[in-house]
Amino acid sequence: MGTFLYTVVCECESAEVAERFEAWLLEGHAMHVVEAGALEAEVVRRDERVLENRYVFASARAFERYEREGAPRLRADALARFGTSVRYTRSTGTSRAQRSVKGLRVETVPYFNDNYAYLVHAYTPGARGTRSCVVVDPGDAKPVIEAIAEHDLSIRAIWCTHHHPDHVAGVPDLLAAIGEVPVLGSRYDLEHTRIAKQTRGLVEGEVLPLLGHDFRVMNVPGHTLGAIAYVGAGMAFTGDTLFLAGCGRVFEGTMPQMHASLMRFAELDPDTRLYVGHEYTEANLRFAAHIEPNDAAIAARLEHVRALRAEQRFTVPGTVREELATNPFLRAKDATEFAARREAKNTF
Ligand code: ZN
Ligand code: FE
Repeated sequence: MGTFLYTVVCECESAEVAERFEAWLLEGHAMHVVEAGALEAEVVRRDERVLENRYVFASARAFERYEREGAPRLRADALARFGTSVRYTRSTGTSRAQRSVKGLRVETVPYFNDNYAYLVHAYTPGARGTRSCVVVDPGDAKPVIEAIAEHDLSIRAIWCTHHHPDHVAGVPDLLAAIGEVPVLGSRYDLEHTRIAKQTRGLVEGEVLPLLGHDFRVMNVPGHTLGAIAYVGAGMAFTGDTLFLAGCGRVFEGTMPQMHASLMRFAELDPDTRLYVGHEYTEANLRFAAHIEPNDAAIAARLEHVRALRAEQRFTVPGTVREELATNPFLRAKDATEFAARREAKNTF
């Protein structure tokens, strides 16, 4: 049985209304439709005045239930906020062929020597016009501004993994260029006011809705005490806590704390795609091969990564499965072995 697609074309009376309407959709309304029964929600910008909401339901019956129970309240809410400045054209149908709602897509933005920022957005084949994204760790504004122009994206929020300047120093310049958007980071970093322009302090387990997907905030102290990861939609943004085949230095936390944080990544679904803060993979694998010289998986990954880097290609994303097989810090048998390996790596 096919899934049930429900689309709402929303024609706004001006570009300014469209901006506010889109922000309102993304900040919660789309998620409310998911809470009311949709499997997935997506907001696609058609042009400066027209948006299209696409909702996928498991079945026609699930959609009918939503129409009875969820929709009246949500429509009343939209009417109360936007009145007649937005006109809606609704259509429904069962069609696997039309089922174009996809997972999220990530654009990798390299900057400085080896840092990565990421643009997370919903990819819809054939969709035209500017689409929303969040940016993770804009340590440098200029390459991020160039990337959003290239991909026709508009930034709705900034997600910071930790306060180190190579991850967040670009935030003020980015805001100056794109206008004020929410700047998220940990509550710890907010309380210590160490991310300029941070507007919101996140706590463990908090859920961030993004384009119909839920991202969960995971506290991962060790590299810094305010370090967090964003985990959802089959991916994780790890900052400098976990690198591919490696991990960050333990600057503020303790070795057992960092070990425990890394173990949380080890417990994620093995297919989780890992988007890490730095391109350190090749050097990390050389260290891994030093620790486990006879390990075939490490040797094979090192060879693969060398080939990628020879062509200046990114090694991100990796997967949890690859890390379990090759990352000497995830493979340490306990916190003591982890600490010994971390110290050995510092001078390798
Ligand atoms: Zn850092
Ligand atoms: Fe860093």
